[in-house]
Amino acid sequence: MNLNLIFDIVNTHYYKGELKRPRLIIGDGNWFDPCNGNPVICVDNKFQNDPEIVVSIILHECVHLWCRQNYIFDCTREQYHNESFFDEATSHGLIAVYDDQYGWNNTRPKDSTVLDIFLEQILN
Ligand SMILES: [Zn+2]
Repeated sequence: MNLNLIFDIVNTHYYKGELKRPRLIIGDGNWFDPCNGNPVICVDNKFQNDPEIVVSIILHECVHLWCRQNYIFDCTREQYHNESFFDEATSHGLIAVYDDQYGWNNTRPKDSTVLDIFLEQILN
């Protein structure tokens, strides 16, 4: 799966190209790590062949990247996703559902725009 292509589509479509490119890897779990200025986004290897899920994961982790880049505090160490995360997620292509333990962690794309562009590009 071309994670960089998905990132580029997300960046162009929802961030006017203003996100700085992170290192995108397939690994264990879905996570964002700011890594002292060299951010990494990881997509769990069990999802790597499902573009719909990978798009959803990258959209979510890009919100953390954006918040980090703009000094917005969006998430605690315990993974509670706060109101700032909600605001940024919902202005960058996501719908978020609340839960008491993890806050606004549970997200999904608000529509299929990124997935459609991605599939069109890899199939052509
Ligand atoms: Zn998160």
